[in-house]
Amino acid sequence: MTTPVLVQIYCVKCKTKTDSKDMVGVTMKNGRPATQAICVECDTKKFRIGAMPTEAMPTEAMPTGAMPTEAMPTGAMPTGAMPTEG
Ligand SMILES: [Zn+2]
Repeated sequence: MTTPVLVQIYCVKCKTKTDSKDMVGVTMKNGRPATQAICVECDTKKFRIGAMPTEAMPTEAMPTGAMPTEAMPTGAMPTGAMPTEG
């Protein structure tokens, strides 16, 4: 079971840190990462400097080909499986 990670971001309307929804990672004009979200209390758009926490990222965003083949354990291959001539 996966529970959505709610990250507390300051809301200007609530004047306090509130839970966030619809979180998206954005890049600011200066190229720095930031996080944009919606306040669950008042639906106001919130903005936080800094990259979106990886826990909050949807798993679908993970590229399937990210796993390097070098990570495969070569020792797992049974050496005796090779047919020997003669
Ligand atoms: Zn709010």
